[in-house]
Amino acid sequence: MVFPPSRHGTPSAFSTVLPKTIKQADPFKDYLNTLKCPVCQGQVDGVSSPFYCAQIREHYQTFINGDLPYAPYREVVVFYDTKFRRYQITQHGHTEIVVWDTVSTKAPITFDFMLFDFSNTTREKMLHRLRTILVFQ
Ligand SMILES: [Zn+2]
Repeated sequence: MVFPPSRHGTPSAFSTVLPKTIKQADPFKDYLNTLKCPVCQGQVDGVSSPFYCAQIREHYQTFINGDLPYAPYREVVVFYDTKFRRYQITQHGHTEIVVWDTVSTKAPITFDFMLFDFSNTTREKMLHRLRTILVFQ
């Protein structure tokens, strides 16, 4: 954790709360640090569910169970194809895809299984897969 420098030239009171030499083991934080935003590969941040992309919060939100083994139980990904088309993918035991464009909001398409592994994908891979899926809808 980094605190902003003091405006008065004296150390911030916050900086003395925990000496930097003491690093407490936090398996949950370690797990959180392994997660990346599937859209921009940014860090996933937050203090409680939903955790989210630290770059652009809308990209990725994830709810994680607090017991071992840690794993997301609900994930929401939002990104744009062009300026005019927006995809929202929600996975919660199943997959729901919502597409918006300038013309309309299409009805959500729901699949009874998980279509994406957000722990191992990129924006381009998701876009490719979405286009393939939507061709058949
Ligand atoms: Zn992101």
